[in-house]
Amino acid sequence: MSGPGPAPAGGEIAFEDRMATVEFRVAAHPHIVVDGEVCRSCTTRACVTACPANLFAPTSDGGILFNYEQCFECGTCYMVCNEAGAIAWSYPEGGHGVVFRHG
Ligand code: SF4
Ligand code: SF4
Repeated sequence: MSGPGPAPAGGEIAFEDRMATVEFRVAAHPHIVVDGEVCRSCTTRACVTACPANLFAPTSDGGILFNYEQCFECGTCYMVCNEAGAIAWSYPEGGHGVVFRHG
């Protein structure tokens, strides 16, 4: 065996290593739009803890800040959000969005 560091156990790749291989081709228009006004009446803030990329941030005035640029397009926020109309989703334009590399 060669190379620095211990071999990953069980062939699994650490999340951070996996993230280093992810490329984001940022589209000009956000594919997820969050309606901050709807979020003000939300009590769960489920998106904040559910998003694996930590893209939702509560603001001190009760709103939500959302940054679409490093989104994995996993759909979790859309599924956990229980406020109608808070999240509008459309897939990124062709050639944009997240790119997962294998190998
Ligand atoms: S996006 Fe949905 S879950 Fe997140 S704060 Fe807004 S209403 Fe709540
Ligand atoms: S689709 Fe996934 S990564 Fe993107 S904002 Fe929603 S939960 Fe976060």
